[in-house]
Amino acid sequence: NLSDRLERSFKIIKGEGKITEINVAETLKDVRRALLDADVNYKVAKTFTDTVKQKALGMNVLTAVKPGQLMVKIVHDELATLMGGESVGLQLTNRPAIILMSGLQGSGKTTFSGKLANLLKGKQHKNPLLVACDVYRPAAIEQLKVVAQQVGVPVYSEPDNKNVVEIATNAIREAKAKGNDVVIVDTAGRLAVDEEMMDEIYRLKQALNPDETLFVVDSMTGQDAVNTAREFNDRLDIDGVVLTKLDGDTRGGAALSIRTVVTKPIKFVGTGEKMEAVDVFHPERMADRILGMGDIVSLVERAQEQFDEEEAKRLQKKIQKNKFDFNDFLKQIEQIKKMGNLKDLASMIPGVGKAIKDVDIDDNAFKGIEAIIKSMTPKERTNPEILNNSRRQRIAKGSGTNIQEVNKLIKQFDQTRKMMKMMTGSNMAKMAGMASK
Ligand code: GDP
Ligand code: MG
Repeated sequence: NLSDRLERSFKIIKGEGKITEINVAETLKDVRRALLDADVNYKVAKTFTDTVKQKALGMNVLTAVKPGQLMVKIVHDELATLMGGESVGLQLTNRPAIILMSGLQGSGKTTFSGKLANLLKGKQHKNPLLVACDVYRPAAIEQLKVVAQQVGVPVYSEPDNKNVVEIATNAIREAKAKGNDVVIVDTAGRLAVDEEMMDEIYRLKQALNPDETLFVVDSMTGQDAVNTAREFNDRLDIDGVVLTKLDGDTRGGAALSIRTVVTKPIKFVGTGEKMEAVDVFHPERMADRILGMGDIVSLVERAQEQFDEEEAKRLQKKIQKNKFDFNDFLKQIEQIKKMGNLKDLASMIPGVGKAIKDVDIDDNAFKGIEAIIKSMTPKERTNPEILNNSRRQRIAKGSGTNIQEVNKLIKQFDQTRKMMKMMTGSNMAKMAGMASK
């Protein structure tokens, strides 16, 4: 998947410790290829990689984060931003609120009408009415009725009337009379954009003045989806996009292209034929999907937040000079603690999660250690050599521990210091980075 590819292309290049013009160019070739594979429009992919390049080169590489991972994160964030950043919900203000479906035949309008009615009924306690305005195929009304029955929502239809504006207007009157607060208008589509269809849906929109005009599109149609979205938007000025058939292994690149070309939010995704198979669109999750990765992004993110590059450099110098002291030790513990629950953190490391599922990692493990260090005087912290027996006794009392624990900690500290010195050019921040490989 893409995130592996990104990391790999960084590893091939020597001097992987830095994001440079050369390895960025190499990596972005991969990104561009992967985006095209995921159905992203060529121009969108190009603009995208240019933006990422600017960002990557302007970024300082943190000790705790591998450049390959950082690239993954930059790409991920940029993808999410391009897709709108945040989820956008429906704006339903009128009573009844009117939602108009548009899109080609087979895109999933009827199915999504049912799914949406179900969502509004369940989550928002609405009382929706479905309206059958696909009057060209006799089976269309039947299909909407079947869907409606599955979710327990009424359908308004006029089998002998071909005037969709009239049907919809009557339906709204009925909704008012019966207390339905949302009216969902399912319409006819054609196999390709044509004038007659566009004219009909345009007249419907003019007459109904809907709260939401949604454009429903099959995500498996790739580049065609983008062109169709553009044509519908030009004519209807849609309020949002519904991306259907995002189940299976559809990569979802269409989401990125549509959003970029049409600049209207994607509001929902359909993920199957069942009425429950629908989700509110989350740009972040779609970015994950396009990249094909799991929690690695959040791991990088937390590491990045918590490890201050300057601090890491300062520590490295101290270790090399064998000046690493208890103050530094305490700081490191605080940083590790800031990163959150240790078990959570460890479980995000690929391959480790399963292994530690049943292991007990105690977040209080540091409590005693912290208490002991805090009971030391500043002089003792910077010069651990002076910690003789009477000092140790005092510290044990002050920290509410005992002499054995104090001795143990000091011994551990000495060992750590020796080990650190042996691994010159290393520090705990870096070790955390290594662990997340
Ligand atoms: P319409 O012509 O726009 O009304 O499209 P339909 O709602 O009739 O859907 C066309 C076909 O796509 C039907 O067989 C649906 O079951 C199927 N379909 C709709 N949405 C999804 C989806 O999210 N996932 C899958 N796998 N199939 C879908
Ligand atoms: Mg239909």
